[in-house]
Amino acid sequence: MVSSKPLKMTESEDKQKRLDQIKADILKQNICPDLAKSAKNLVMGDGNADADIVFIGEAPGKNEDEQGLPFVGAAGKFLNEMLEGIGLVRSDIYITNIVKYRPPNNRDPLPEEKAAFLPYLQKQIEVIEPKLIVTLGRHSMEVLLPDSLKISQCHGQPKRYHGQVYMPLFHPAAALYNGGMRQTLIDDFAKIPLTLQKIK
Ligand code: URA
Repeated sequence: MVSSKPLKMTESEDKQKRLDQIKADILKQNICPDLAKSAKNLVMGDGNADADIVFIGEAPGKNEDEQGLPFVGAAGKFLNEMLEGIGLVRSDIYITNIVKYRPPNNRDPLPEEKAAFLPYLQKQIEVIEPKLIVTLGRHSMEVLLPDSLKISQCHGQPKRYHGQVYMPLFHPAAALYNGGMRQTLIDDFAKIPLTLQKIK
């Protein structure tokens, strides 16, 4: 008997196709041409396009730029450990950044760079339709939750904004060499499963 691929795409494959189209649009529109010139890769995102949880960081660093994938350096390793701590692996979630090209010398992304990529980030979220968005660090929180308190005051507390549930967390890179913040991040991560369970 000749085996054939199922004709119908899974939800995840269909969503991944739509995410690929967003990537093609960024390239076609030549978003942030200076960053595009200095970077090796456009780092769109990684993981399950039909995930319940989307993690959003700041911008790719050196390792991410080289591999074309988000959170593959030291901060990513710590993130993977925290995911494992709550029984998840990278293929259970989707992960991306606000800015999709590495800023030179890992400088902070500029306001205009964050603004230029925001519509594409919003399109990614529209496609994935996550139950929960976890922002990693101040930049991601400020872009997605513009009316929020300081991250030191609201980390680990779920917040509903325009119908979407968010949980702001500290950035794993900031916690790498700070024992206190590291434990805070681990404790905040532990709140993710129950938060997700409570979302209607
Ligand atoms: N830090 C980020 O914010 N994003 C990455 O992809 C890697 C490190």
